[in-house]
Amino acid sequence: MASKTLGRVVCPIGCGHTAAQVKLKTDKEAGKTAYPYVHCAGCGIQLHTRGDEQAAHLLGMTRPEGAPTTPAGDPLPVIPLPVPMTLPAPPPVPPAPKKQAKVFDGLLFGSAP
Ligand SMILES: [Zn+2]
Repeated sequence: MASKTLGRVVCPIGCGHTAAQVKLKTDKEAGKTAYPYVHCAGCGIQLHTRGDEQAAHLLGMTRPEGAPTTPAGDPLPVIPLPVPMTLPAPPPVPPAPKKQAKVFDGLLFGSAP
């Protein structure tokens, strides 16, 4: 279970940890491809890539291990979420009239011919 740390990313599920490790197994069986994965020490999630394209996306967002983040020492600036627009309330929809069905519509216990 040996692995090496390639760099750091913000937790992919947004737990707030900004330095989740991007790692690569170094003891993969011969003939098998090792793809990088994320391990977040904040929430414990592991996110494994399974192919070249996924690995490329992950590595593209990975910052080098030990790289400075921001001058203030904050790992990454927090990008505020867009303020949700306030939409006017939709007009009230009258409830659909319920069908007044007889019990099984007489199929099971219908009157004899
Ligand atoms: Zn996390």
